[in-house]
This record gives sequence, structure tokens and C-alpha cells, in this order.
Amino acid sequence: MILNHVIGVRFPVAVPMTNMIKFDLITIFPDSLQAYLDSSILKRAQEKGLVEIKVHNLRDWSSSKHRTVDDTPYGGGPGMVFMVEPIYNALCELRKENTKVFLTSPKGKKLVQSTFVELSNDINAHYIILCGHYEGFDQRVHDHLVDYEFSIGDYVLSGGELPALVLVDGITRLIPGVLGNEQSLDMESFTNDTLDFPQYTKPSEFNGWSVPEVLLSGNHKEIQKWREENSILETKNKRPDLSK
Ligand code: SAH
Repeated sequence: MILNHVIGVRFPVAVPMTNMIKFDLITIFPDSLQAYLDSSILKRAQEKGLVEIKVHNLRDWSSSKHRTVDDTPYGGGPGMVFMVEPIYNALCELRKENTKVFLTSPKGKKLVQSTFVELSNDINAHYIILCGHYEGFDQRVHDHLVDYEFSIGDYVLSGGELPALVLVDGITRLIPGVLGNEQSLDMESFTNDTLDFPQYTKPSEFNGWSVPEVLLSGNHKEIQKWREENSILETKNKRPDLSK
């Protein structure tokens, strides 16, 4: 079962179960990715066969004896730069006809929820994600070998591993069947340019802090109304830019 997006509404459409989004992540720190991929929702998604995620060590495509993949920058300056050749070799081996290659970079286009929606809708997709480190990649990687450069925000991290996990996680949790309760996706922050309403759980009273009465009332219509109103209020208070 797959769900298509039509103006923010999800309609169930039957598709053969062989379809699956595949990810290949290329990094020099494979272990740092594996722990997250082997936990929680991403782990279950892989076990259910809804997604395939492989982690590769870029050094496997180095042509040097010492498995070197970086070198000093031409023109001088601090840091190391990932060489074009190992990346080229990796892509020659992993790239298929339908592959999209993503490069993690603070200079890339900032990720937003609608990007995840779009990428999760392509149920036969194959996404390769390149994780940089140090000073990043030789410019020829940017210019000749990738389809998209993405950033996860206007700040600089030490590596592309966290951004790669952000992309994999953001896409995977939208694949039908991955989350237990698909309905919750429609109500989430950013789905309709609003933020999620406030959530509470037991106990109804703690340290003098109480849960809004209406949520305990059992009146579904009133609860729905409260949630819609408070979703708008949250958006107005915390992210007024969303409702412009
Ligand atoms: N010298 C570069 C920063 C390199 S940071 C510059 O100033 O633009 C090293 C690596 O971390 C990058 O190659 C990229 O893979 C990753 N990275 C750092 N910040 C990132 C961000 N905000 N979004 C995506 N990737 C990022």
C-alpha cells in the first residue's frame, strides 16, 4: 500500500510490495551512522522491507595503498579536501539509471518538510548521499557528479553524517507502513503550514500544573476545535513566518 499526496491529502493506492526506496550512504565514518540506522523507526522500516539503507566506507574506493581519500587544498590554507577520484569510483559502481546523488553541504538548498514528502513519494527511488568532512569536497564533485546539494541549516557541522541521517529519517518516516499511525502525519508540524497542537499525557495534574480541562472531557468535537485553535496559536507565537 502506498499513499499519494494530492494537495496535502493522502489517498491509498495499491502498488506491488516489491517497490522500495533504497539509500546508499557514503562516509569515512560508517560506524557513526550505523547506531542510528539500527534503532527505533528506521530499524523497523528496514526489517519490514519498506526501505533499504546501506552504509559504505569511501576508503573502499581509494586507489592508494593507504586508502587515502583526501588531500591538502590547492592554493594553500588549512584542512583537507575530499578528492574527486574516490567519489567518482564509488558512483560508477553504485549509480543506476534512476539514481539521484545528494551531497551534504552548508552551501546547499535548505531541507524542508515538502522536500521529504516529494522524495518519499518516489517509491522506486535510489538515493546516494555523500557525507563530507574537514573542508568538504573538491569543487569538481559539486560541478560534475551530484544532482542535489542540501543543507540542514545555516551553520557548519564537522561532517555530513548527521545531515545524511536527517534526510534518510525525514523521508523514511513518511513511507506508508513505517509509522504505526499514518493519520498522525496529516496533523504534524509543517504539513499545512502550521505547527502541531500541544500534547499532554498522564498525570492530569503534576506539581500544580494541570492539563487543559477540555482534553479530559471526552468530547471529541470540542477536543478537535481546541486542537485546531491551539495549532494556529502555536504557529502565530512560535513561527509567524509560516502563516504568511
Ligand atoms: N568549509 C565548508 C564546510 C565544511 S564542513 C564551508 O565553509 O562551507 C564539512 C562537511 O560537513 C561538509 O562537507 C558537509 O558534508 C557537512 N556539513 C557541515 N555543515 C552542514 C550543513 N549545515 N548541512 C549539510 N552538511 C553540512
